[in-house]
Amino acid sequence: MRRRFPKPRAGRKASAPAALTLPDGSLTFTLQKDGFRTLRLSVHPDGSIRVRAPESTPLSAVFAFVESRRGWIERTLAFFAAHRPAAPVLADGGTVWFLGRPFTVRAVPAAREVRPRLQGGELLLPCRNEASLSRAFRLWRQSLAKSVLTRRLARLDAKVRAALNDDAVPTLTVRSLRRRWGSCSLRGNIVLAAQLISLPLPLLDYVLIHELCHLRRMDHSPAFHALLLRLLPDARERRTALRVWGLEHPRF
Ligand SMILES: [Zn+2]
Repeated sequence: MRRRFPKPRAGRKASAPAALTLPDGSLTFTLQKDGFRTLRLSVHPDGSIRVRAPESTPLSAVFAFVESRRGWIERTLAFFAAHRPAAPVLADGGTVWFLGRPFTVRAVPAAREVRPRLQGGELLLPCRNEASLSRAFRLWRQSLAKSVLTRRLARLDAKVRAALNDDAVPTLTVRSLRRRWGSCSLRGNIVLAAQLISLPLPLLDYVLIHELCHLRRMDHSPAFHALLLRLLPDARERRTALRVWGLEHPRF
């Protein structure tokens, strides 16, 4: 799920980011110079704008570059402003999601026979005190994520192999990932975020099929997207919905 840029030239270090404002005062951004060969611009959910540029780029070229992307920057800022997440709170009475459905967290006194479970709109988490709630939640999520994602990936993997008539078989690692949903290594190991089990199933499937496509194509080339669309004709809509979900739901 990660975009890759051309590799930097060896031995060049990035400079410290400097805050800049367009000459007309309309946009503020940070500029970082590094060893890459292209100008790059990103807009972040907190509203910050980051520009990275080759070391030799004159300031006038940086300003012209930002100016040329003004329409996109403004649309992206408006998109983020329209999809603000709720504050991430993991506490008794807080909300967590499982397969797209909200559950209210209930801390219950720890006892041997009580196991964490989803029950009637609640997630019951045995714990000794409020402080151990977060640990109890993470243990519960990791174990559930491992079993849910293992089964779902096996099912989708079988479908993809049948559709493509090949035998690329992944191995799976599940762990807590704060910023990404998944990745796939050259050796065929798919790493999935335990946080994925909060997603509605169509969005969860999108991430899994995306990574299964990376087993066959390691890049985000047109061939990769053609493969993804062949397996999942509404991949674009799911990707947009995933982006909105990620912005609107806190991630712990
Ligand atoms: Zn990807």
